[in-house]
Amino acid sequence: AAKMKGGGDTGSFDVGLPNAVPGRVVTRFPPEPSGCLHVGHVKAALLNQHFAKMYDGKLLVRFDDTNPSKEKNEYVENINIDMAALGLEWGKTTYTSDYFPQMLDLGRRMIKAGLMYADDTPVEQMRDERMHGVESRHRNRPAAESLALFEAMVAGSEEGLRNCIRYKMDMQNGNKALRDPVTFRCNTTPHWRTGTQYKVYPTYDFACPFTDALEGVTHALRTSEYKDREEQYYRILKGQQSVWQGLPDVHIWDYSRLNFVNTVLSKRKLTWFVDTGRVDGWDDPRMPTVQGILRRGLRVEALREFILSQGASKNETWQEWDKIWTINKKIVDPVCGRHTGIEEEGAVVLALEGAPAAPESSEVPRHKKYPPAGTKSLVKLDRVLIDQADAAAISEGEEVTLMDWGNAVVTSITKDADGKVTAMAGKLHLAGDPKKTKLKLTWLADLGADLTPLQLLDFDYLISKKKVEEDDDFESLVTPVTKFETLALGDVNVRKLPKGETVQLERRGYYIVDQPWTEGGRAVLLAIPDGRTRAGP
Ligand code: ATP
Ligand code: MG
Ligand code: MG
Repeated sequence: AAKMKGGGDTGSFDVGLPNAVPGRVVTRFPPEPSGCLHVGHVKAALLNQHFAKMYDGKLLVRFDDTNPSKEKNEYVENINIDMAALGLEWGKTTYTSDYFPQMLDLGRRMIKAGLMYADDTPVEQMRDERMHGVESRHRNRPAAESLALFEAMVAGSEEGLRNCIRYKMDMQNGNKALRDPVTFRCNTTPHWRTGTQYKVYPTYDFACPFTDALEGVTHALRTSEYKDREEQYYRILKGQQSVWQGLPDVHIWDYSRLNFVNTVLSKRKLTWFVDTGRVDGWDDPRMPTVQGILRRGLRVEALREFILSQGASKNETWQEWDKIWTINKKIVDPVCGRHTGIEEEGAVVLALEGAPAAPESSEVPRHKKYPPAGTKSLVKLDRVLIDQADAAAISEGEEVTLMDWGNAVVTSITKDADGKVTAMAGKLHLAGDPKKTKLKLTWLADLGADLTPLQLLDFDYLISKKKVEEDDDFESLVTPVTKFETLALGDVNVRKLPKGETVQLERRGYYIVDQPWTEGGRAVLLAIPDGRTRAGP
């Protein structure tokens, strides 16, 4: 496949993978089912897909389910939905838990070979010893003793549960990831897939090199904040290869983690927003999740284009949401239908002399430059509704343009004591030149119940701080109010719009239909950020 060039300033995907043999490359996307996919995962998924395609290789998806306390079947289902939405194409789906039996076997072999030992040093003390390069008192215990303890862990006995297994690596190494990492630990929480069958689980650090090698992954892509762990990965794999014949090598290839301003991208933190009811779910339009941003009106093509423009640079960057929404706007604007929405509060009736006394309807294009968008009916009447903000900007005697109709001269304006416009009258002046008017107004024939009641929702970032650092207390950075409602009236055509359709409400912006109109109800439309006036994931 041809190389793809990124358009961004941060790099491109022109770079290749080291030691890649066309037709033989295998990459993998390994989500942990502890939450739904977010925009950072999209980068991981698409990058893996990109390299698999570039070398006519294969992409695998592996659910990395080694921690039963965090994982749920529900997330597996949602991640499958997310990957389908992204159009990800992969070969096999596997689960790390598929390999638990082999990994227990592997554990036994490595303990027997003296590569790993059982340790019941309390967590705090272990952390402290690791910090100071102090060896555990159990480090040099006989292999038989460690093996017996491992079996006790497998059985889940009281003594077993007090222990973990550690890789005898290098307690003095400056790279602390090499200071005897834990490879197996007990957990009695039922596993979403294997239930209570196992009481002991491999750690991610131990499971990852083994499953990668076993599945024939040639290139394991990892975000560069794990750079420190690369050496650990290779050493663990080497130990595994020494007791497991034919286990191939794997190349680690690192790339930069994606960060967005005003956003947290950690499943733990996103879970908090869901669990505390600060959002309505993982698919809330304020969430930086795949489900959230697509619901908010981001096109998958825009997401792909954005990710590819990121390139394969290894430097961590903070991305502005504006950039992704600007790409989106360029995709949406040329094709989406145009409609009209007038704010209910303060809407003003303009009585129009010379206009039809009964509704007069005609079919007009929904997008003047894009016929496939179809047509809509445009209704003219001698009473039209306009926005209060527009009404307030007009002076008596002024000639204005009613969009898609023509000019009118406003002859009288009635205001209440607070200066709010309550009524207006004018005369159609179709001979007038629209190029010469200052105001081009959106308007709707005052059809009462035939208009479409709308709830327009706009949102703010969930996080008020621009760059959230690792040690920030993110809970204290939550934006107090993030949802804003405007009630409006839409043209009659809005009734027919299906869920997920993107439209432009003229002079207001882009919206996506979240809940279609139903008899007696309101259609719910979400404001789509456009990269300029509207923010948000
Ligand atoms: P989270 O903190 O959201 O739980 P994670 O890395 O623990 O992230 P995983 O499900 O293990 O979540 O991630 C699957 C893959 O996506 C991994 O390869 C991981 O490195 C990658 N990934 C996660 N977050 C990002 C990000 N912000 N940018 C790029 N890749 C990411
Ligand atoms: Mg992870
Ligand atoms: Mg994480």
